Amino acid sequence: MESKTFKNKVAIVTGGGTGLGREMSLKLAKEGAIVVIASRNMENLQGTAKLIGDEGGTVLAVPTDVRDHAQVEALVKTTIDKFGRIDILINNAAGNFLVPSEKLTPNGWNAVVRIVLDGTWFCSSLAGKQMIEQGEGCILNIIATYAWTGSPGVVHSASAKAGVLAMTRTLAAEWGQYGIRVNALAPGAMVTEGASKNLKFDSEQAQKVIAKNVPLKRLASVDEIAELALFLCSPKAAYITGDVMTADGGAWLKGNSFLDMLNG
Ligand code: NAP
Repeated sequence: MESKTFKNKVAIVTGGGTGLGREMSLKLAKEGAIVVIASRNMENLQGTAKLIGDEGGTVLAVPTDVRDHAQVEALVKTTIDKFGRIDILINNAAGNFLVPSEKLTPNGWNAVVRIVLDGTWFCSSLAGKQMIEQGEGCILNIIATYAWTGSPGVVHSASAKAGVLAMTRTLAAEWGQYGIRVNALAPGAMVTEGASKNLKFDSEQAQKVIAKNVPLKRLASVDEIAELALFLCSPKAAYITGDVMTADGGAWLKGNSFLDMLNG
């Protein structure tokens, strides 16, 4: 990346307080972006905001539950009131847990689908209106390879991420005429606060089993995935839209899901 690729660009990152969201926010700020981080837990948001501020970046933490349309409206309004525009939206917020499909309750289904699918739609539709007015913008949706492979144990997340992939392509086709690019990024397993604990690969043993089954023989690093996210949001990707970039070390080519890998 050239230095200051995102100078004066305004970026919203949902789930920006932890894991991949935090890393993408740090990197965007380092490259000159004004970063608005949004999620429910203010403590996590403030921790990340401090990290960005300490490095000289500009950041605003806005407590937001992406399942709530009114809160997303407030997030978008606050961003525009303070910074005048929205250049980049990264829909990264997610929830997930392992459950056999026949044991999944309606509440469990809603908990995940409302964050991933509804949340991505609320953020994209509201930020998208601003981007249409501007005549430019970039939306990046963080998905997972099971959006197209499916995966035992995560029917809620796989269904929602598949919906987000369809949304990515649909909005790319509709909004290209307004100068808006919409892409998706599908990382492989990476160790973060939430995902590895919720999907039960937080132990060294589980990570070894996964690595053994990935063609490139390791998990993804949050750093390398965040770099790809920045590339997709940068002018270097100006002719890429409606695409999904997969960075999973080749895992999905072997048909591996999280559960398959953990089962050896
Ligand atoms: P993470 O640390 O758990 O991040 C998830 C973020 O979503 C948290 O910051 C959380 O913040 C936020 N969030 C959850 N519910 C929310 C809500 N209702 N409203 C607003 N924000 C909400 O996990 P991660 O691994 O960094 O995940 C980042 C993305 O990568 C996700 O889209 C995930 O599906 C994807 N991904 C991860 C892996 C992996 O192996 N780690 C693999 C493939 C794809 P609050 O709790 O503060 O709300």
